Amino acid sequence: MGKRVIDFNLLEDNDWDDEIHEECGVFGIHNQKEYDVPRLMYYALYALQHRGQESCGIAVNNDGEINGQKGIGLVPEVFSEKILDRMQGYSAIGHTRYSNGEGSSIEHCQPLIFNFKGGRIAIAHNGNLINASKIRYNLENKGAIFQTSSDVEVIANLISRNGLKCNDLEEILIKTIDVLEGAYALVILTKDRLFGIRDPWGLRPLCLGKLGNSYVLSSENCAFDTIGADFIRDVEPGEIVIIDDNTVKSIKTNNNKPHKSCIFEHIYFARPDSIIDGASIYKARLEAGRLLAIEHPVEADLVVGVPDSGITAAIGYSRESGIPYGEALIKNRYVGRTFIQPTQKLRERSVDIKLNALSEEIDGKRIIIIDDSIVRGTTSFKIVQMLKNAGAKEVHMRISSPPVLNPCYFGIDFSSKEHLIAANYSIEEIRESIQADSLGFLSVENLLKTPIGTAKENYCTGCFTGNYPMQVPVHEAT
Ligand code: SF4
Repeated sequence: MGKRVIDFNLLEDNDWDDEIHEECGVFGIHNQKEYDVPRLMYYALYALQHRGQESCGIAVNNDGEINGQKGIGLVPEVFSEKILDRMQGYSAIGHTRYSNGEGSSIEHCQPLIFNFKGGRIAIAHNGNLINASKIRYNLENKGAIFQTSSDVEVIANLISRNGLKCNDLEEILIKTIDVLEGAYALVILTKDRLFGIRDPWGLRPLCLGKLGNSYVLSSENCAFDTIGADFIRDVEPGEIVIIDDNTVKSIKTNNNKPHKSCIFEHIYFARPDSIIDGASIYKARLEAGRLLAIEHPVEADLVVGVPDSGITAAIGYSRESGIPYGEALIKNRYVGRTFIQPTQKLRERSVDIKLNALSEEIDGKRIIIIDDSIVRGTTSFKIVQMLKNAGAKEVHMRISSPPVLNPCYFGIDFSSKEHLIAANYSIEEIRESIQADSLGFLSVENLLKTPIGTAKENYCTGCFTGNYPMQVPVHEAT
């Protein structure tokens, strides 16, 4: 077959959407009546905003009465001083959300609060269940009704159904998660306890911390730093952590499943100041850059990172290669989730709205530009154009992860295989399409060396290798 090149200028409307959409962030606190919980939750969710920008919510337990507030928008858009003043309570859970193909209406916002035989309960979830449709179908056949297409409502229905047969919530939760397949990190609030649950593979992160005499759970420990809590440990894959006024109890339900954290947390999702399963995200990105410089060296004058997640790898590349690092792409930090859908012409400029090139730093130079990944290729094309328009003599693109060849089934909203550029074009065809002078990706082998201090077998690499930690839906895997 001859060489095929994409003309990105001819792409239409939605084809410009090249974002990797984040997943969700969860946070929980069981407070010994020491703190103003709603405000703590506000700052904790603010620290987890990078994990989801579509909607957010907080459920608070006020002396056994659980109530919540949630809405579409960023944390400061949903929670005003007035709303926080109105919220009272000593324990709480919260959620920041990206819809991940589920609906984006207010009904889909979390935490989900519901009543069942065992009382009132609130749940917030991060991840994706691969057997949610099957469970939903079975439940509907037994008379269950659903308001949304969200996984969390499926889990709520299972809890309610299991609650008919038994009164012990711990037992109900063990029975519930026993039928779940896929990725989940859950925080659950009841009138007297806070639960944290991580799926048996540990695909999505969850950690435990302490603030004074109170305990906290979070998707990432960067939220602990924000509120002054100390990190205690990661919740183990398959573990249920139960926090009440007196104890922190642990139930292990792993059933010998292998640990398989999402390696993409290290490449892109997590904040660089977080540590997941014992590996520093910052060090992993630095190492990815260092290994990339060894794997794909090139003569150049300046190494530049695509803000924000390409920057640390660019520093690593610069240190290893000895080529100076420069801040030549400036990010507009106030562009977040957009309420107003841009027209096609504006959509084509979406990268320009977010980034601008510093021609003073670029003009006449050979630039190595480091990004975390290439999904559709449109962003890479725009960035190369931007650097060339700013006077770059050569643009060499280096990617601190391998080519994305397969979809993710565990909560990361990659495009379907047909829209993944690397699944359909060779590396040389991609290089030519994005009009870079050279292009190099980090190998899977080197990627697995980047989470320093942890075992390389402990990671899911499904989107790069097609090796998923569990059987995935066949019709989508091909
Ligand atoms: S398939 Fe990729 S993005 Fe999805 S969990 Fe595995 S490593 Fe993460």
